[in-house]
This record gives sequence, C-alpha cells and structure tokens, in this order.
Amino acid sequence: MRIAHALPAAPAPVLRIPTPADDSRPLTIDEAALSLCSQTDPEVWFPEVGQPAREAKRICAACPIAARCLAIALASRPRVEGIWAGTTEHDRARILAARNREARRQAATAALVADDADLGEVA
Ligand code: SF4
Repeated sequence: MRIAHALPAAPAPVLRIPTPADDSRPLTIDEAALSLCSQTDPEVWFPEVGQPAREAKRICAACPIAARCLAIALASRPRVEGIWAGTTEHDRARILAARNREARRQAATAALVADDADLGEVA
C-alpha cells in the first residue's frame, strides 16, 4: 500500500522542520515500522534537481518519527541524500551551518567570560 496516495491532499505543503531529537542512534525495528516513507514509492524521496519535494514533505509532516529521522540525517557521514524529515539536502546544510555558527558564538562567549575571570583574579 502506498501511504502517499491514501493521505488526504494538503492545501499547500508546509515545511515543518521538526526539532532534532539529538538522538541519532539507528532506528529500532519498532521505530522503523512507524516510518511513512517505508510504505511509499521510493522515487518520492529523490526529486529531480529543481523539482519540488512537496509530496515527500507532505508525508514527512505526518510522520511520527520525524524528529528522530532529522537527528539521524544531520549526524550521518557521509551526508544522506534525498528528503529526510521534510528537509532537502540544502535545508540540512543550512541547519548544520546555523548549528556551527551557534557553537562558535557560544565558544567565543565562553572564552570572553574566561578572560574576564582571569583578569579578575589578577586585579
Ligand atoms: S520523517 Fe523520515 S522516516 Fe518519516 S516519512 Fe519522512 S523521511 Fe521517512
């Protein structure tokens, strides 16, 4: 059965990027059984370059394991291809870049706080 054809048509695809669960362990058999993509035409998940990924994103929006799926996709090396948790490769690259920027910002802030603490000890 192809779930994609059993789901009601959405008026417009909504990019719902789930909050990463930070749990990138491989899916358990029970979790994998919940994935909607495992019951769908595989071609949906690999749209041609420049083609919209609406159908895949619509299915992912209803998937109960989307947060785990995104965590796995973001942690995968080499990077995974296709649509994962409603995100394209470009979406995931943007998420990772934002995470890296935030990590650098936090490291710089921590370094400044440590410098201030060192100066306080000298004074
Ligand atoms: S969220 Fe992940 S597991 Fe669920 S349908 Fe989308 S790609 Fe498949």
